[in-house]
Amino acid sequence: MVKIVNTREELENIILNMLRKLLCDKHLYQSVESSFKEIFPSYHEKNESDQDRIRLKSINNLLNTPWSVYCSRRQPIHNTGNSEVSINLPNIQTFCHCCKSREAFRAESSVVSSSRVFEAPIRQVFLVSFVCQKCSNANVDFTITRSGLKLTLSGRSPIETVVPPQYIPKGVRKYYSDAVIDYNTGAILEGLFMLRTLIEQFWKSSNLAVGIDRPTGDELGDAYNDTLKPSFKEEFPSLKMIYAELSKAIHEAREDRDLFKKSLEDIERHFDARRLFKL
Ligand SMILES: [Zn+2]
Repeated sequence: MVKIVNTREELENIILNMLRKLLCDKHLYQSVESSFKEIFPSYHEKNESDQDRIRLKSINNLLNTPWSVYCSRRQPIHNTGNSEVSINLPNIQTFCHCCKSREAFRAESSVVSSSRVFEAPIRQVFLVSFVCQKCSNANVDFTITRSGLKLTLSGRSPIETVVPPQYIPKGVRKYYSDAVIDYNTGAILEGLFMLRTLIEQFWKSSNLAVGIDRPTGDELGDAYNDTLKPSFKEEFPSLKMIYAELSKAIHEAREDRDLFKKSLEDIERHFDARRLFKL
């Protein structure tokens, strides 16, 4: 019978790590998933021992039961009754809107609602609230959906904040953040559009000598290139070329993840170089 207790503790540890990863590192609508193989790596159907059979039964029982999630400081506000699997919510790291930095948060409250608990995969929704440990003032609330051994970040408030690198110009930092959030939540085309907006708005704010009232992106790109030294243009990615690639993808409605990553990297390199050249 000792084996069964171990199995429960092991499973709780796996779920705890999944929760930590989901809440610290994952973005809206992303998931973390475990598998039977991770919970019971040594299991082989062919040479199953009596011990294995007992453990297998115990794992299946635990996987098909609702999980209870609670905060150590309080009793569960509402739990699922006699759940055998109960998780003490971990502390997490996330962005604090009051402190304007990534801080440690502790769980403050949790509510569990369960549906479809009598069929596999079991479905549950957890509402959990965390408070910043530095200011004790700001909360971040998450909705987590469980489907069997998969946890999905199905909601969060306030929305995730992405802090752009220091060298991204002040006037276009918002577009950088929006682009990365769009990309992280799977809105690739919107992300590409935001990167293009970043470049265009940067040009428009740069007092370029264009000579016409409503210049096109191409014309702005040419006028901007005229302000750069040949050595800069040779060595670092060209905003005009990034702009052209982004425009092409947008016109084709092409949800190109690789282009997003490459463009973001090139935009960063370009602006970092401007800083080095003291532009
Ligand atoms: Zn704070």
